[in-house]
Amino acid sequence: MLSPSVLISEVGPRDGLQSVKATMPTTDKLTWISGLHAAGLREIEVCSFVPATLLPQMADAAEVVAHAACLPSLTVMALVPNLRGAEAAIGAGAHKLTIPVSASEAHSLANVRKTREAMVAEVRNIVALRNERAPGVKVEVGVSTAFGCTLQGRVSDEDVVWMVEELVKAGVDEVGLSDTTGMANPAQVRRLFKKVRAAIGDKTGAAHMHNTRGLGLANCLAAFDVGVTTFDSSQGGLGGCPYAPGASGNVVTEDLVFMFEAMGVDTGVDLDKLIAARVLLQRGLPGEPIYGLTPEAGLTQGFVYANGRQPQPNSSKAQGACA
Ligand code: ZN
Repeated sequence: MLSPSVLISEVGPRDGLQSVKATMPTTDKLTWISGLHAAGLREIEVCSFVPATLLPQMADAAEVVAHAACLPSLTVMALVPNLRGAEAAIGAGAHKLTIPVSASEAHSLANVRKTREAMVAEVRNIVALRNERAPGVKVEVGVSTAFGCTLQGRVSDEDVVWMVEELVKAGVDEVGLSDTTGMANPAQVRRLFKKVRAAIGDKTGAAHMHNTRGLGLANCLAAFDVGVTTFDSSQGGLGGCPYAPGASGNVVTEDLVFMFEAMGVDTGVDLDKLIAARVLLQRGLPGEPIYGLTPEAGLTQGFVYANGRQPQPNSSKAQGACA
């Protein structure tokens, strides 16, 4: 029997870079993305299509997509906050668009300066554009602040379920839930993903968890337990949200891969190559702190991947480049 598997969707080049002050040079981005792909990651959120005046870090978005689209078997995902961004992303050749839509009205206004209803209308327009120009492109929404909001406080389950239903009616392929502010706990994750699955079935998308209070992996595991099979994470835990004060740190990809593989759940990712890619990240962002316990500790003795593969003989501290 095949081992169970999950898809790890790497968001570092978008979510991570978007939240650091320094700008990673384009050549370093391309090398880093190649390194992540070489490690076996098969979905990478490589950039966002936003005005360069707002986010100079993403001024090279089209060039980054063009590079990533040449890497075999990689789904190249781009974040688009609006129709204009979606046009640019489709033009650049992105395979999948991800649109952030807030479950919290206060966060929606702060993040994209639109009400939640206005964002659903924008999503409808993006789906129409996709249907007309690029029917092969997938459209995903990540519902941000699904587990709580630092601006508004509590976000009710009813609001989240209402939102995911509206988004499916608007024609999106997948709706995931994001713990933008690092407020989720495993019981809540289990409860809310169950309700979302009951409402939208197999259109239930990724769990995007943050490690703000150390519960990132526990929350991913809770989501896995109720049937979620796609997990967003970033190399070295890079990332956060500038409009959610105090929220920092995506789940660390290295630790997430280790957890699943050690449990016998196939990720398709090679941990030695993934840890080697940290060097590429650090080269492009010298001095930026990055996180992760598995890269520090190395693999456990006798570690075997879920698919039966053995780690490389000299496993496993950060070493060498693999561009
Ligand atoms: Zn994030």
